[in-house]
Amino acid sequence: THTINKIAAGEVVERPCSVIKELVENSIDAKASSITLEIKQGGIDFIRVTDNGVGIPKEEVEVAFLRHATSKIETAEDLQKVLTLGFRGEALASIAAVSHVELLTKTSQDLTGKRLEVSGGKIGISEEVACPNGTTFMMRHLFYNVPARKEFLGSSSSEGAKITDYISRLALAHPEISFKYIQNNKLLFTTSGNHDLTQAVLQVYGKEAAKNVMPLYDEEEGITCTGLLGNTLLTRANRNYEHFFINGRTIKSTLLQRAVEDAYKTLVMVGKFPFVLLHLTLDPATIDVNVHPTKMQVRFREEERIYQMVYKAITKELRKNHL
Ligand code: ADP
Ligand code: MG
Repeated sequence: THTINKIAAGEVVERPCSVIKELVENSIDAKASSITLEIKQGGIDFIRVTDNGVGIPKEEVEVAFLRHATSKIETAEDLQKVLTLGFRGEALASIAAVSHVELLTKTSQDLTGKRLEVSGGKIGISEEVACPNGTTFMMRHLFYNVPARKEFLGSSSSEGAKITDYISRLALAHPEISFKYIQNNKLLFTTSGNHDLTQAVLQVYGKEAAKNVMPLYDEEEGITCTGLLGNTLLTRANRNYEHFFINGRTIKSTLLQRAVEDAYKTLVMVGKFPFVLLHLTLDPATIDVNVHPTKMQVRFREEERIYQMVYKAITKELRKNHL
């Protein structure tokens, strides 16, 4: 498990998208109802996440960063340590170790907030400031001090595409939160956070997408299967349009992928993948969850039953709509 932990931890700060994942999850943990994500150059040069969550109490701000970066980071070995040991509870420290970070935060109990700068793991300016309730986390120049890692990154457009896919999925996973996504000064989408999933699809993927989805609903013996299904006009050459959730959480599952794609195969979609937003609600005792810092993989106790149910639910719906 030691090796597994090391591998998993190194992935916390693997690329701009993994930084964003940590930051946005912190915002969700902080009960934000509104989250703005802004990136430049695929997030390599600039990331800003602003939330209206509970904020960090002044006296805890530095602690949140220093959990791992207590010693100064001076050598490559020190950096490597932070990169590989930074696992759960270490995200902020890990990010701040390999970039320039600025944090602005205020709780509703405090009259003033705090602004803190951390560069390469070293605390810089720390001051009291006036700011709204919530937290703004700004990151510049990822891996500026780890050229070997930086080289490993893709082009800014491919890193940006990963982020767009991630934040689109997240916005659909959380229709109760209002997301705003800005890329290179251009507003790509805003969701209203009013729980309406079809509206969220419209806001994230556009009018055409929303026109071509239909609701999915099926239920049997304690398992419910709900969500949205796209028709044959709404496909992609990759799986970016496939969204799976179990008991409200985003997951990855090759079984669900297979069940869905097999159901759509009857529609003859060669080389194309459907739009599917599938929420399964079931007894947690019937699944094994393998939580990994960057994804959540699920194994079903009754694989065949789940496969059949999803397959049937989808084919039934597609037939009903004469597709
Ligand atoms: P973890 O989330 O696993 O505790 P992190 O390094 O991601 O570890 O964050 C450290 C701590 O900083 C969190 O436990 C939380 O108290 C605080 N924090 C980070 N981001 C936010 C945020 N956006 N709003 C409120 N608190 C935050
Ligand atoms: Mg966290």
